[in-house]
Amino acid sequence: RKRDDVDIETLEAQVEELDPKATQTNFSDLPLSGPTMEGLKSASFTTLTDIQSKAISLALKGNDILGAAKTGSGKTLAFLVPVIENLYRSQCVGADAGLGAMVIAPTRELAFQIFDVLCKIGRYHNIAAGVVAGGKSFKEEADALARMNIVVCTPGRILQHLSQTAAFSVDNLRMLVLDEADRILDMGFSKDVDAIIEYLPPDRQTLLFSATQTKKVGDLARLSLKDPEYVSVHEKA
Ligand code: ADP
Ligand code: MG
Repeated sequence: RKRDDVDIETLEAQVEELDPKATQTNFSDLPLSGPTMEGLKSASFTTLTDIQSKAISLALKGNDILGAAKTGSGKTLAFLVPVIENLYRSQCVGADAGLGAMVIAPTRELAFQIFDVLCKIGRYHNIAAGVVAGGKSFKEEADALARMNIVVCTPGRILQHLSQTAAFSVDNLRMLVLDEADRILDMGFSKDVDAIIEYLPPDRQTLLFSATQTKKVGDLARLSLKDPEYVSVHEKA
């Protein structure tokens, strides 16, 4: 058997045994793949932030998550690490694997920021990722989408592709991330997000992160999440 297969089996067993309530301090305390550990190391990420410590193990184990933590608490890695790892362990990466994960952000700028972090920590993986947030021609985006394993996108633009790009398939999609859900809703994207969710396979894993817990976020959580684990980090008094 290939070495990768053996590594993945070992990782699967470690994730299975992982106690999500145990407190980890470092990324190296988590059952993460070699390429991810290398990527984190090369970007000098060693210690977990609070939200990362609480959310990553739950997400590695496949739970849906409703996460709340203020800006600057490290939410990006809290979802990107499990996205990369869960796709890697299920071998949904590489040229023919199709789109495995969709990360939705409120703005083009934020989508590019998330993509930058993804490129840094995912650099040793064979994962194809891209941004679909307008600014490029629709055709260019559609061609690029056909090769992606992970897309970071804004709601309006990805919905346009879902409804207009015949070749765009989300049949293999396993993970949906809604980042800054409160801002997505404040910006009036509620209907777009509802429509996007209608296109996606219902048996996916969904991670929803928000800086604040509003009624609208609660409504979206009820629509998009299944038996979510609530993960929140409060400021120390
Ligand atoms: P949020 O999305 O919660 O606002 P970010 O994910 O943008 O937070 O992270 C905020 C800052 O903290 C970024 O500069 C990021 O590089 C840094 N950061 C995140 N996680 C870690 C970590 N585990 N160790 C060191 N710095 C981190
Ligand atoms: Mg953020």
